[in-house]
Order: sequence, then structure tokens, then C-alpha cells
Amino acid sequence: MPTALITHADCLTHVTPDGHPERVARLEHVLHALEPLDLLRVSAPMAAEDDILRVHPASYVSDLRNAHPNDGFAQIDADTFMSPGSLDAAFRAAGAVLRGVDMVLSGEVQNAFAAIRPPGHHAETETAMGFCLFGNAALAAKHALDHHGLSRVAVVDFDVHHGNGTQDLLWDEKRTLLITSQQMPLWPGSGRVDEDGAYGNILNIPLPPDSGGDEMRAAYLGQAFPRLRAFKPELIIISAGFDAHRDDPLANLNWSTQDFAWLTAELCAIAQDLCAGRIVSTLEGGYDLNALSTACKAHVTELIKASL
Ligand SMILES: [Zn+2]
Repeated sequence: MPTALITHADCLTHVTPDGHPERVARLEHVLHALEPLDLLRVSAPMAAEDDILRVHPASYVSDLRNAHPNDGFAQIDADTFMSPGSLDAAFRAAGAVLRGVDMVLSGEVQNAFAAIRPPGHHAETETAMGFCLFGNAALAAKHALDHHGLSRVAVVDFDVHHGNGTQDLLWDEKRTLLITSQQMPLWPGSGRVDEDGAYGNILNIPLPPDSGGDEMRAAYLGQAFPRLRAFKPELIIISAGFDAHRDDPLANLNWSTQDFAWLTAELCAIAQDLCAGRIVSTLEGGYDLNALSTACKAHVTELIKASL
């Protein structure tokens, strides 16, 4: 079965002010890097508002609509902006991960990668932050549970920043296991080990600044993978941020491209053992264009290998 690449040109119409790290060129570089790969290319639909309401209240969606500018920028928080294309981009980004879930669970594809922006893992229930508007990974998990009737969905977030939004959205959802690794200390400051969810359904893995692939592999082998196997998910969602790369300007971990490939291959092997290889991965951060596109290509290459 193929690997799906789900994206939409609307995700390039979400523009941020000059010098902002979460910029259009990120997705352009990712898509260029993925061009030679053998992927089933799928146009992302817009998520329906009802889909968004699985994790965000209607008042939050209307606040975003009201804030949405007709020209220029609207500043939503310290580092989150909307341009005239941002709402369409956000609905396409959410729609991409939902389509990924639909395609993987129907057996059309083995796994899927949503190449989208804005990213999602910092968006809390009623708060846009950290370049994120809708909680894409949490939306995907809820869609798999509530629309498709799954019983257990795991989310693995290896972005260098804490997935505070996904944690907030899934805090009291005992049908999910969230495993999130992050540099600590680092913005947004959350992600301590004792933040473990209302039902012990969250595993936070802080990693010290300047640590690298060896520390990451030890943490995943020692903590993440045993928890994942014990949970027996029916689907694995990946929040795939590539800003733990040693060349990333926003953080201080020293992962190599090979580390991202290793982690992806391990997750694919676990998915093969536990849930027929079902994985939906969605793009989060990564701010050095070369490191982002190279590591993302390595990630998607492993998804393809696992689908053969
Ligand atoms: Zn990040």
C-alpha cells in the first residue's frame, strides 16, 4: 500500500511578517524535497467546523474569524499572526490530518504525511499560540476515536518544543496516550515529568539542552516505546517537528538527520507490531530550511519503506 502525501496550496497563503521563523518557504522546501519520492499525492480538504469543535469551542473559532484580517496581519499572541490566507490554511491543515486518518483507517494507504502549515501542537483549547491555530494532532486523534470508533489512539510528538496544546486538548481523554519529548528548559516552559494527564495518559520526556541522538534514543527505548507497546494503540499520530535538529536556530538539541530516520523507523516497526502499521504524521516545527527539508525527507522515506 502507498504512503499518502496530503497538502494544499492554501497552506502557502498563510503569510507571516518578515523575519518570522514560521514562514512560507518552510513548506516550499519540504514539498520540493519530497518531489522525487513515490507518494500518493492527495489534495487536503477543508475541515468542517464540526470537526474543529471536537477540541475547540465555537467561541474560539468565531474569535479567530473575527480577528482574521482582510489585509496585512493580525497579531493573535506574542508570536502568532494571521494574514488573509490564514483561516483557509488552518482549515486545510486540519482537513489534511483528518483525511489522513480516513485514508489510513479505510486501508487506502498504509500511512500518511500531512505537509501543512500553520502547525498545531501549541494551540490550546481556547488559545492560539506558538504559530499554531488549531490542534491538528489532537483533532486527528479525536476524529479516529469519535468518528471511526477506535478505542485507543497514541500521539507521539518529537518536536523540540513541548506539545502543550496537544497536552491541553487530550489532558482528560483516557482513550489517548500522548508521548511528547522536548528540550527543557525551553519555550513554552511546560512539559515536566509530573504533567501526566488526568488518567496518567500523558508521558512527558524532557531532554537537556545540548543533548543529542544518544540521549534521545535512550529516552525513547527506555520510556516511550515500552509505554507505547503497553498501551496497544490502534493508530499512531506523529507530531513531526524537525527543530531538534542540530542546525535549528530556535533550540539547542543536536539530533542528526539519521536520528529522525531512526526514530521514524522504530515507530513504524512498533506500528507494524501493534496496529497494522497505521501512522498519520503531521508537520509541526523546523526552522532551518535545509535541516527541515532534509530531515523531513528522511522521515517520509521511512514511512514509504514501512509501507512496502
Ligand atoms: Zn517546535
